[in-house]
Amino acid sequence: MIQLKSSREIDLMADGGRILAATVQMLRREVRAGISTEDLDRIAEAFIRSHPGATPAFKGLYGFPGTLCTSINQEIVHGIPSKKRVLKEGDIISIDVGVGYQGYFTDSATTVAVGVIDAETARLLETTERSLAAGIAAAMPGNHLGDIGAAVQRVVEEAGFSVVRDLVGHGIGVAFHEEPQVPNYGKAKRGLKLMPGLTLAIEPMVNIGGPATRTLADKWTIVTVDGSRSAHFEHTVAITDSGNRVLTAA
Ligand code: MG
Ligand code: MG
Repeated sequence: MIQLKSSREIDLMADGGRILAATVQMLRREVRAGISTEDLDRIAEAFIRSHPGATPAFKGLYGFPGTLCTSINQEIVHGIPSKKRVLKEGDIISIDVGVGYQGYFTDSATTVAVGVIDAETARLLETTERSLAAGIAAAMPGNHLGDIGAAVQRVVEEAGFSVVRDLVGHGIGVAFHEEPQVPNYGKAKRGLKLMPGLTLAIEPMVNIGGPATRTLADKWTIVTVDGSRSAHFEHTVAITDSGNRVLTAA
């Protein structure tokens, strides 16, 4: 069932979204060679909890142990923070994080370069972020879910990269994962009609190589089958009467 939110509920989500945006910006500054993903996780949890009433939404969600999903290089999503995973110059790290606040959830992700990265990886990050912007621009009242996916897919495939299909964005709000699913591929004018009050996590996951994925033995980390690098950017977006509102923007 799709749960439309009132403007009051969207305002509450925006309050949590501001805390989440600050968390993401703080983490982008903390990423450096020599820091472990467990260090990042600890810093993030303390930062979120320093805001009265805010909680790390991932902690315990489906049994996940961390505040962050930290996914390095060929890891797409759901990497588990660990003191053994230390960032090196030239790596990229995707950081996915959610916040609960006043009974509502928001979700955001970013991919960060560790020091200097190669040109193709830099193009992957730029393209993935731009594909998210295109998806958000298509998330307008009267458009359809397929318009979002088609917009993301077009940016990614024109750059010669591939969209992950095994994982999708989602509705969000009262529950962390709500209906509908929000694929990063599709056909314009197809699927659910977007209406005011719909709140969506739009989150392209983009690979340099092919789209195929597999799950590691830890049962969480999802990687590219071909070992190519992957990037992930995400915002929580509310459809409004006049357009949309990005609830997790800095
Ligand atoms: Mg997320
Ligand atoms: Mg999400």
